[in-house]
Amino acid sequence: MSKKIDSLLFPSFCINCKTGTPEEPPSLRWLCLNCHKLLITRWQKVSFKPEITESYYIFDYQKDKLAKKLIHSLKYDFVKEIADTFYVSLESERFNLRRLTFDFIAPVPLHKRRLKERGFNQSELIAKKIAEITEIPILDNIVKRKIYRRPQMEVKNREARIKNTQNIFECLDVEKIKGKTILLVDDVATTGATLKECARTLKSAGAHSVLSFTLAQD
Ligand SMILES: [Zn+2]
Repeated sequence: MSKKIDSLLFPSFCINCKTGTPEEPPSLRWLCLNCHKLLITRWQKVSFKPEITESYYIFDYQKDKLAKKLIHSLKYDFVKEIADTFYVSLESERFNLRRLTFDFIAPVPLHKRRLKERGFNQSELIAKKIAEITEIPILDNIVKRKIYRRPQMEVKNREARIKNTQNIFECLDVEKIKGKTILLVDDVATTGATLKECARTLKSAGAHSVLSFTLAQD
């Protein structure tokens, strides 16, 4: 279907105020210009030590309701283009992102079953933009989610969350990461159990250290 017919059949609306939005640019398709001004980033730090040396995020999942709404649509309504909306937010944190020191970017992988359901990995979309801003490459297929577990969102208790992520990752290329510092990228972190487990896998495979960046902290 051509893009033009597509937009006639499926006109787009701002997810926040429901006014009609233009087809271009993609960053304004799901959030209008006025509502974009409400999506304010704040560079913040959280501790997922000792596995992760430094951890950063730009939205508070509980306070920044609009960011939450957008992330939810990206993940659970499968609206891939919402990643373009966040590109603007990441762009506004260009200075802070470029200040970080690392060798490679690695998005937290989805299990292939979940990837098939969703059609894309949201962490990979965020990672791509960070790679563009920092001019530091993404390491593709460096870590794999080898075991399918229920989503962390459904696991409420902290201990159960840690258990739910234990040994789920596997490093696929030990040579590439030996002695390197890797920036792990994900959409949302809560207890950090997934990020920490992923970092643990990378470090036991020989990575020197791991940093993390998520859009939001819950
Ligand atoms: Zn709006």
